[in-house]
Amino acid sequence: MNAAEDKPGRDCPLCPRLVAYRKACRAKEPSWFNAPVPSFGLLDARLLIVGLAPGVQGANRTGRPFTGDFAGVLLYETLGRYGFSRGQFDARPDDGLVLIDCRITNAVRCVPPENKPTPAEINICRDFLKPTIAEMKNLKAIVVLGHVAHNSVVSALGAKKSATPFKHAGRNMLGEIALFSSYHCSRYNTNTGVLTPKMFRDVFEKVRAYLD
Ligand code: URA
Repeated sequence: MNAAEDKPGRDCPLCPRLVAYRKACRAKEPSWFNAPVPSFGLLDARLLIVGLAPGVQGANRTGRPFTGDFAGVLLYETLGRYGFSRGQFDARPDDGLVLIDCRITNAVRCVPPENKPTPAEINICRDFLKPTIAEMKNLKAIVVLGHVAHNSVVSALGAKKSATPFKHAGRNMLGEIALFSSYHCSRYNTNTGVLTPKMFRDVFEKVRAYLD
C-alpha cells in the first residue's frame, strides 16, 4: 500500500489469488495495464460511482474504470446524458472524456478471475474504498452498481446492511450521503433484461434531481 495516499500500489500484495491472476495477465498481455485500477475523476466531485471490479479486457487492459468493455458503454452514455461528463467516450483512456462533478471507482481494484471477487478480497479492498470516500470533501451522493458495491459501501460507511436495503433506483440516506443503488450495467444484466437503459437512466435522473 502507498500509505501516504491510501492507494494500492501497482504490485499490491494483499490478495494472493488476485496477485496470481495479475501475474498471469502480465505474462499473457504485457502491454496491458494489469494493475489495481485507480479512481477516475475529480476529488472535489459531489458524486461517486462505485462499480464491482475491473473487467479483464476493460479497465484491466486500459487502466481506466469501465473503459474498454461493454459495461462502460451504457455507463458513460448515461453520464453524458445527465451532465456528469463532457466529450466523446471512445473506450480509450486518452479519448479526452472529462467527468463533471463525478468520480468513478471500484469496490475491488484488481481484476478478479471471472469477474467474481471473493468476500475476503472485497473486505481487504475496502481499506482502499474507505479513504476514497473520505477524501471527497464535497461528497453528497454515491451510486453503487450491483449488490457487491452496495454492501461494500454500506460497510465502508459503518451502516447496517439490514437497515440499508438494495433496491434498484432506491435511495438510502447514510448520514449526509445519499446512497443510490442500481443493478450493475454489465452486458449480462442488459442482455437478460435485468437492467434496461431506461432503468439505468432512472437512477441518474434521480441523482441529477437530488444534486440540483
Ligand atoms: N469495469 C469496471 O471498472 N468496473 C466494473 O464493475 C465493470 C467494468
